Amino acid sequence: MADNLSRAGQRYVDADLLAYVERVHASQDTALQAAFDAPGLRDMPAIQVGKSEGKLLGMLLRLAGARKVVEIGTLAGYSAIHLARALPAEGHVWTIEYDPKHHAIAKENIDLAGLTTRVTCLLGSALDVLPTLVSSGPFDAVFIDADKGNYDRYGEWSAAHLRTGGLLLGDNAHFFGRLMEDSEDAQAMRRFHENAARAFDTVCIPTPDGLLLGIKR
Ligand code: SAH
Ligand code: MG
Repeated sequence: MADNLSRAGQRYVDADLLAYVERVHASQDTALQAAFDAPGLRDMPAIQVGKSEGKLLGMLLRLAGARKVVEIGTLAGYSAIHLARALPAEGHVWTIEYDPKHHAIAKENIDLAGLTTRVTCLLGSALDVLPTLVSSGPFDAVFIDADKGNYDRYGEWSAAHLRTGGLLLGDNAHFFGRLMEDSEDAQAMRRFHENAARAFDTVCIPTPDGLLLGIKR
């Protein structure tokens, strides 16, 4: 289930209310809808960002005047399409995915959206691929949305390769509600928060699972 729907039924918010605000503010064209629907239809985990979070990511990039963006965790390309559409014509997204099936389906969706030249889909483990991107930097934004146990490392890479004023965006910053647990992954996520708060001016936006936003000092 997409992030947004996972909170349906909790205090204040129900499925009808979410459907209404998504319909009014985050309506989708065919290409975006296809990428959003792909995980559910093609036997992939449906863990793409919610529709409102996707829209928010794009609007944050526009506010920051972003041109060069790195995404860690492509899945079916849904958030990558939001990111790419927010950029000026010469802008570029590099998105990293280690599952060959996800990578292939993302490329289909990005082609369908007409964004083939604006998005480079990289197949590989993020910690292996990130060093190959350094020469294309510094970057204007990094969106982290992959394995939670490495968020601290992804955050360090971002601090090193974002320009001053560049955006750090970390999805699932509440770690599915388990942020305060003792597991290795929860500890890594807390290090991500604490290190980010030093290198960036930060806020953890209370989206359904938390979106850490940082502006590089
Ligand atoms: N950002 C996407 C959702 C990403 S889901 C969207 O909102 O549309 C997380 C993705 O990260 C999955 O496809 C998973 O296969 C990938 N992933 C997990 N660990 C990874 C790693 N170490 N390197 C690259 N990709 C990884
Ligand atoms: Mg996520």
